[in-house]
Amino acid sequence: MDEKSIFEKVRDREIPADIIYEDELCICFNDIAPQAPMHALLVPKKRIQRIGLASTSDSEILGHMMIKIPEITEFLGIAKSGYRLVINNGEDGGETVPHLHIHILGGRPLLWPPG
Ligand code: 5GP
Repeated sequence: MDEKSIFEKVRDREIPADIIYEDELCICFNDIAPQAPMHALLVPKKRIQRIGLASTSDSEILGHMMIKIPEITEFLGIAKSGYRLVINNGEDGGETVPHLHIHILGGRPLLWPPG
């Protein structure tokens, strides 16, 4: 088994994080370097390196994560004001942690297009 990713270490409580939500398939915690007043990361517990490497067998996990977003954003207090979901994939996408994660950003108006 390769070395664990940072997010697997968070999952396994080997490094600390502000955990917002957790169930059997996914975990959500605050980003260590927030880019908005509210910036959380929603991460599958299973090692899926990036969305570009997800497969049909990951459909349940990915669908589950998406369907949990209304509940998580309600808890974060940004459901009504609005928010943005971001998945960075690969070098040009700005991916820095090779474990799939959905950024949940909110708490202020976000610019478009992104840089
Ligand atoms: P990416 O650039 O891969 O889309 O996003 C990785 C995100 O993980 C970045 O926003 C970065 O701030 C966050 N991050 C990196 N290391 C840690 C960590 O140890 N703990 C937490 N909570 N977030 C991290």
